[in-house]
Amino acid sequence: MRRIDPNNFRVATRATPRQINRQIALNLVRERQPISRAELARSMNMRRGAVSLLVNELIEEGIIFEGATGETSRGRKPKFLFVDTRSRCAVAVDIRPTRTFFMVTDLVGRPLVGVTSFATEREPKKFVAELARRIRRVLSDHEELGDCAGVGIVVPGMVDRTGSRVLFAPRLGWHDLSLLEPLEVAIGLPVSIENSGRACALAQLWATRGGSDTPDDFVFVSVSDGLGVGVMVKGELLRGQHNVAGEFGHMTLNIEGPRCACGANGCWEAYVSNLATLSRYFGRNLEEEQPLPLEPAALTIDDLIALAHSGDSKALFALQTTARYLGLGLASVVNAVDPARIYIGGEIAAAWDLIEVTVRGSLKERTLRPVGRHVEIVVVPANDYPRLKGAAALVAAPSFAAPVVA
Ligand SMILES: [Zn+2]
Repeated sequence: MRRIDPNNFRVATRATPRQINRQIALNLVRERQPISRAELARSMNMRRGAVSLLVNELIEEGIIFEGATGETSRGRKPKFLFVDTRSRCAVAVDIRPTRTFFMVTDLVGRPLVGVTSFATEREPKKFVAELARRIRRVLSDHEELGDCAGVGIVVPGMVDRTGSRVLFAPRLGWHDLSLLEPLEVAIGLPVSIENSGRACALAQLWATRGGSDTPDDFVFVSVSDGLGVGVMVKGELLRGQHNVAGEFGHMTLNIEGPRCACGANGCWEAYVSNLATLSRYFGRNLEEEQPLPLEPAALTIDDLIALAHSGDSKALFALQTTARYLGLGLASVVNAVDPARIYIGGEIAAAWDLIEVTVRGSLKERTLRPVGRHVEIVVVPANDYPRLKGAAALVAAPSFAAPVVA
């Protein structure tokens, strides 16, 4: 049984059980659609009449709809329930240190308008104005997508518990920045903000369809400009007292190690970020020199991975060194959290065939218990857009999330 969290609970009122049942019904429709009313009632172990009241309410509010699917050879066509994704959309935004990506999705996270990007403006006021302008334009260009339910934004940094302030995003130089309110005012839509690693973890859980095997305890590690980590424990994001838990990217591997964007030395991120890999390729000794500036020459991490695939020894060496540190850090994550599975996302996913043996080797070397050595690792390809899906989940997931109960 879950413990009562004294800081975050709702007292059961007469409305509560109905609210809970409504959310359960909605979640079941989302995960098992198409599903009939009878099937839903069976799954919920409720009388069909009682379930129909909930279903009718959800249909009236435009959250789900009922329609036929497939053909039956005789008799009445059976009707099924679906989440209504037809006339509402969400905007998903992935803020990265150099570029900001965004796309329009339906309310289950499927892309409706492809991914576009623009250079990230670091000056917050200018950034807010630019993002708002682009979002308003894409929505007015695509009026056929219907009402926009909101904008989900992921940032490479820590966000406060209310999701209104960016506490620290080292690579953007953003400290204690109020972002939610200015964005809501500028865009004119509800906005949700979350740390990118956590949003990836949320999307992984959210993307689960009925019968999928996403475990309740897993870690998402996004290796990109920085290193984002989301830790899911018993199906809930690990947040800690101040919403800053799980910052494994800034775990110290070596106190005399390379300078990290956070200002400290030798963080895990400073060894495995794209910038670290590129710096190695250009022959920089990270322990002694500053890494390359944020936008190094014309070579991107994707170019470097392509070079490695074509047998370029310098590119291979740079990636293998990153792989070694990636595995060492993962071992600490396994020792600390004991997840059932680790998801690896970010550009490095494209090099997994080259680095898997090295990553697993150093993971095995430093995990304390034999069970941890065999932790499952699942690679999420970059073209699956885990960060943007996470951003979309911020808009869609709350209306599906289980209510907070003791
Ligand atoms: Zn750091």
